[in-house]
Amino acid sequence: MAKKGEAVILVTLACGECGRRNYHTKRNKLNVREKLRLNKYCKWCQGHIVHKEV
Ligand SMILES: [Zn+2]
Repeated sequence: MAKKGEAVILVTLACGECGRRNYHTKRNKLNVREKLRLNKYCKWCQGHIVHKEV
């Protein structure tokens, strides 16, 4: 049904504490309309921090 490859964008996730950009991931902008927020480990903060899409 859905065409492949058109709606997927690369996003960068930045730590909510220190702002460092620790992760890259992909988001299908048709399925996920909001900006991503993921709880991931930040080695700089040494803990799990909410990372936000930038
Ligand atoms: Zn951090």
